[in-house]
Amino acid sequence: MLKNKSVNKKSNIFIVLVVILALLLVTSRTCRLRNLNHVKSELTSESVQQQNPDSLSIKKEEPMPEVSQPDKNILLGQLSRSQRDSLLFPVERKYASRDGMFMHRDAYNAFLEMQNKAKEDGIELIIISAFRDFDHQKRIWNNKWNGRQVLSGNIYATDIVNPVERAREILRFSAMPGTSRHHWGTDIDLNSLTNSYFESGKGKREYEWLVENASKFGFCQPYTPKGSERESGYEEEKWHWSFRPVSAPWLSFYQQQITYDDISGFDGWETARLLNVAEQYVLSVNEECMNP
Ligand SMILES: [Zn+2]
Repeated sequence: MLKNKSVNKKSNIFIVLVVILALLLVTSRTCRLRNLNHVKSELTSESVQQQNPDSLSIKKEEPMPEVSQPDKNILLGQLSRSQRDSLLFPVERKYASRDGMFMHRDAYNAFLEMQNKAKEDGIELIIISAFRDFDHQKRIWNNKWNGRQVLSGNIYATDIVNPVERAREILRFSAMPGTSRHHWGTDIDLNSLTNSYFESGKGKREYEWLVENASKFGFCQPYTPKGSERESGYEEEKWHWSFRPVSAPWLSFYQQQITYDDISGFDGWETARLLNVAEQYVLSVNEECMNP
């Protein structure tokens, strides 16, 4: 009898301990979930819209988004289906000139914050080009190479017989497939594809706003005027903006990983090496876009 009582007492204590332990586990899990949901809601654009505009800018002391090293296929715009799904996010139609555009997820979140602030300041930012894969860039390039699309004014690439000179003329504004920053989803073209649009009236106000504010959201203009600071490469593009926290490290990865053996599969690809495209174009960007 005495023995039974002591056994019962022991098992009661055991049951109480198990219940306490279970309660502790449930409480800690709920707290963790709550924290995660809090972080998640902070990342949505809706909550961003409710925040103080000053808190929208990327502050120096905040850690930048984690950047993992992309493989060659990503850098060359030849992503697999699963790489596309994990890396890219569809651009909402209201921020874009057409359906079906995608951006790198981190770049898109930053764009939403920037767009929101611009709107408050009476500036409209519309994405007219975002992620482009290798095949998309190949269509642009081959159309120009074969004279199906005019280069500028009434100049057609087919008027230029020498392949190196022909490529050089196309390269004033268009990248070779496999060498475009648009492959990364980090770069976007905004509002217009002509510099003259940004030189007067509404376009000028938009450009001035971007020059003053884009860097607060992590964006920089890679193709500034050519001159002492940027000696070679594409002409100035006032419309092209890049999300530096991702694109700056990816530019270094590109430099380390990609060789001329990787740049082929389009008309005139042999000229890439002769023109030293990686050094002269890919790496010839505004210094600001080299630092995350
Ligand atoms: Zn562009």
